[in-house]
Amino acid sequence: MPIFEYQAITPEKGCPKCKTGFEHIQFSNEELLTNCPYCGAKIKKVISWCRAAMIETSKTYTQAKNNIADYEKQGMWSHAAELADKQAEKSHDKNLKIRALDNYKKAGYNPSMLDKHLNDE
Ligand SMILES: [Zn+2]
Repeated sequence: MPIFEYQAITPEKGCPKCKTGFEHIQFSNEELLTNCPYCGAKIKKVISWCRAAMIETSKTYTQAKNNIADYEKQGMWSHAAELADKQAEKSHDKNLKIRALDNYKKAGYNPSMLDKHLNDE
């Protein structure tokens, strides 16, 4: 659920809430607010919070790392490699990239081909 921050277009005319801005959880079926729900002053959307998105990303990242570790434990090297590779691209994490290559090698891929792959970056 995205959280938007709204503020009065003319803060002097707003109430204490919209003068400084207030957070509003935006439901997907809800239209953007144009008026302050507290005083009715005209408001605009200032920020849609990335905070939630950032937490989400790091959660996905941690989750992916756990999954990679799980695959490694089970000896599913190509799975681990693919996931690590994908995550490395997303996060630009060099360690993950090396881990991916390591797992590719364990999965039986040709190391010289993989080294080229690494140098491509
Ligand atoms: Zn207001």
